[in-house]
Amino acid sequence: MASFPLESALAIGLGANLCSSYGSPESTLRWIAPRLSELLVDWGDAHARDVRCSSFLTTQPIGGPPGQDAYCNAVLLLTRVQRPPSELAALELLEHLQRLELSCGRDRQREQRWGPRPLDLDLLFWGELRLEHSRLVLPHPRMHLRSFVLKPLLLAMEGTHPPCW
Ligand code: ATP
Ligand code: CA
Ligand code: CA
Repeated sequence: MASFPLESALAIGLGANLCSSYGSPESTLRWIAPRLSELLVDWGDAHARDVRCSSFLTTQPIGGPPGQDAYCNAVLLLTRVQRPPSELAALELLEHLQRLELSCGRDRQREQRWGPRPLDLDLLFWGELRLEHSRLVLPHPRMHLRSFVLKPLLLAMEGTHPPCW
């Protein structure tokens, strides 16, 4: 397993349990992951070889309204972000993530908390950056409680380039 410094690493959790115009939840994640990877490399002034992705896991919904379909989850890890961690840069990335969610049909105005969604992209951590901004909390305050985040995170950390999509 190739090592990397945790202080320059950044992780994003991907989740979906509704179809989008790109197909099933898994097809949506397979469509979005390489695009997200390119975006991260540009945004983070990083190298494509420093991107790792977990496999795509099927997980049971936790919390939210009852009767939801299973989720597809994955984690994308950028092992060396060249850009120094900052609130401004993290908020810029959050905007990119929310634009990608919108492009897959995410509609926050109409959905219930933790309800079904065609794409959810959460910034899990960026090195040791801690933020308590109204739009962005880092590290993600619930990531350590969720096996659907921690399992793919471990797989991404153990993984090597090239990613599996
Ligand atoms: P959870 O955060 O518990 O996983 P969720 O992903 O369903 O819930 P959303 O409706 O997608 O929540 O997002 C609600 C708000 O959370 C977003 O508008 C965003 O501004 C904010 N937010 C705060 N911290 C983060 C983060 N680390 N990553 C992504 N969004 C965040
Ligand atoms: Ca989430
Ligand atoms: Ca989210």
